[in-house]
Amino acid sequence: MTPSRAAAQAGGATTGQAGQPAGGLPARGEFVVRGAHVLTMDAGIGDLPSGDVHVRNGAIVAVAANVAAPGADAIDGRGTICMPGFVETHWHLWTSVFRPIMRQDDPARSYFPVTSRLGQHMTPEDSYRSVRMGLAEALSAGVTTVHNWAHNVRSPAHADAELSAMRDMGVRGRFAYGSPQGMANDTAMDLADLARVKREWMPNDGMLTLGICSRNVGNDPNPMRGTVTIDMAKKEWGGARALGLPITLHTSGPPVAKLLDGAGLLGPDVQLVHPLNTSAEDRAILARRGVSYSTSPTGESRRPGDIQLAELLEAGVKTSISIDHNTTYNCDCFVCMRMLYSMNLHRMGKKFQLTTKRLVQLATIDGATDLGIADKTGSLTPGKRADLILVRTTDINMAPVGDPYDALVALAQPTNVDTVVADGRILRRGNKFTALDHGKVVRDGAESAAALRARAKWPA
Ligand SMILES: [Zn+2]
Repeated sequence: MTPSRAAAQAGGATTGQAGQPAGGLPARGEFVVRGAHVLTMDAGIGDLPSGDVHVRNGAIVAVAANVAAPGADAIDGRGTICMPGFVETHWHLWTSVFRPIMRQDDPARSYFPVTSRLGQHMTPEDSYRSVRMGLAEALSAGVTTVHNWAHNVRSPAHADAELSAMRDMGVRGRFAYGSPQGMANDTAMDLADLARVKREWMPNDGMLTLGICSRNVGNDPNPMRGTVTIDMAKKEWGGARALGLPITLHTSGPPVAKLLDGAGLLGPDVQLVHPLNTSAEDRAILARRGVSYSTSPTGESRRPGDIQLAELLEAGVKTSISIDHNTTYNCDCFVCMRMLYSMNLHRMGKKFQLTTKRLVQLATIDGATDLGIADKTGSLTPGKRADLILVRTTDINMAPVGDPYDALVALAQPTNVDTVVADGRILRRGNKFTALDHGKVVRDGAESAAALRARAKWPA
């Protein structure tokens, strides 16, 4: 099935070919955000307590105290922080539709049993709707780049459906192609389809990139998902590398850094997720090999172990922040930063100083570095693509604002995100989508959830 046909069957209002931008997105225009407190996250430019950001044809063309841009539309940035959109680096968007079926306080109805069982009943249309619903929340919370950790690609049509949803929503992101839930551990992922996706979807219009998500590797006695041998990992990772694609891996079980390094598998194209159980030796290996680590504090705080942010940063390991899923908690990068700040104090006291600015860097430019797209996004730098948000500082939970970084980490919440721009398209303005029918996205998601529940005969 061609991607456009898959997308059509998946219910996407798409008219373009695989790699082309879809219809239905607002055009990339020319505008200037004026008078905002601009946090560029670019060390060379710094911050502007009252500054302008000029955007044209999807690119940032100027950032300064006063930008002359006759003819450009003006967006009043007064009373807002203008900053890069958040770059999250690991999210199972295919699970979004399971939200109404889960209970975080009932182990039988928690995230893993629901997603691993009902996930096996997903159609491409369900995948499309789930990814689209998750991305609607992402955008509403100021996330403009995602790493779609798709470990339920049940067929080529499912891959096309997930990619179609990413394209149709106008976000930037990496699609990490993975094996479907329930697949036998001794079966290799579909490397032929991975090659097809690369051929048909990349490089598209520059918004989407491709990688793989590996199953867990090693001898986890109690795996939450599939676990493969080192030989299978060599086969799958080798297949990805032959296509020039990066690799991501959960480290939920026993430590794996030494095992992977011993097999010669680690390199700067590898991202690990959930830094809860690394040793000093592991961290030295990861720093030496250029491996990155993504922490999802909202979920990790519910698991045994410590979120080792201080240790990773001290060891010089590339680190970033991720949402993981939005079923038993919401998408909230402000809360992620706040939790990391609090838990660092809780664990380390004064032994490791973590500033609020460092946290905002981790949630923006460091995420872009992790995903290998820091040349395109993660900071408000002229020449980069225009992925930016305006966070209102006049709302009751924010005003009156002192230090902007402190306000973002201590006080802000997704409803303060007034305006969201991705690749120069104004996707949200005044807390509302400019083109997307959010109600339909939610209704479609709820319909898929009900159908999945019935097909899986859940909870019987
Ligand atoms: Zn995960």
